[in-house]
Amino acid sequence: MSDCIFCKIIAGEIPSDKIYEDDMTVAFRDLHPQAPVHFLVVPKKHIECAADITAENSAEVARCFEVIAKLAEQEKLQGGFRVINNCGENAGQTVPHIHFHVLAGEVMGEKII
Ligand code: 5GP
Ligand code: ZN
Repeated sequence: MSDCIFCKIIAGEIPSDKIYEDDMTVAFRDLHPQAPVHFLVVPKKHIECAADITAENSAEVARCFEVIAKLAEQEKLQGGFRVINNCGENAGQTVPHIHFHVLAGEVMGEKII
C-alpha cells in the first residue's frame, strides 16, 4: 500500500525506533507512548484490521504473537503487559495496517478491560 505509514516504516522509507524484525514482522516503539513501555508489533503484509484476518493470512498474525512473547523477554516485561488491537473507526484505529500495541512498565489498573 503506497500511502500506508506502516508499510513505509517497514520499507525503511520513514524512520522508526525498531526493536525487532524478521521475515514476516517488525516491532518499533510508538511515536506517542501511552505507557513507560509502548511498542507496536506489525505484520509486514498489509492487512487492514482484525476484521480482515482469514485462513490465508492468519499465520502473519500468529507470528505477531510469537514475537510479542519474545519481546516480553527481551524488554524484561516479567511484571506483565497489555496487548491492544483497535479495529475500525469506533475503536479509534488511526493507522489502517493491523498492529498490536504492547503496553507495560506500570500498574495499569482497571482502566479498560
Ligand atoms: P491506532 O490508533 O491505529 O490503534 O494506533 C496507531 C499508533 O501508531 C498510535 O499509537 C500512534 O502514536 C502510532 N503512530 C502513528 N504514526 C506513527 C509513526 O510514524 N511512527 C511511530 N513509531 N508510531 C506511529
Ligand atoms: Zn500497510
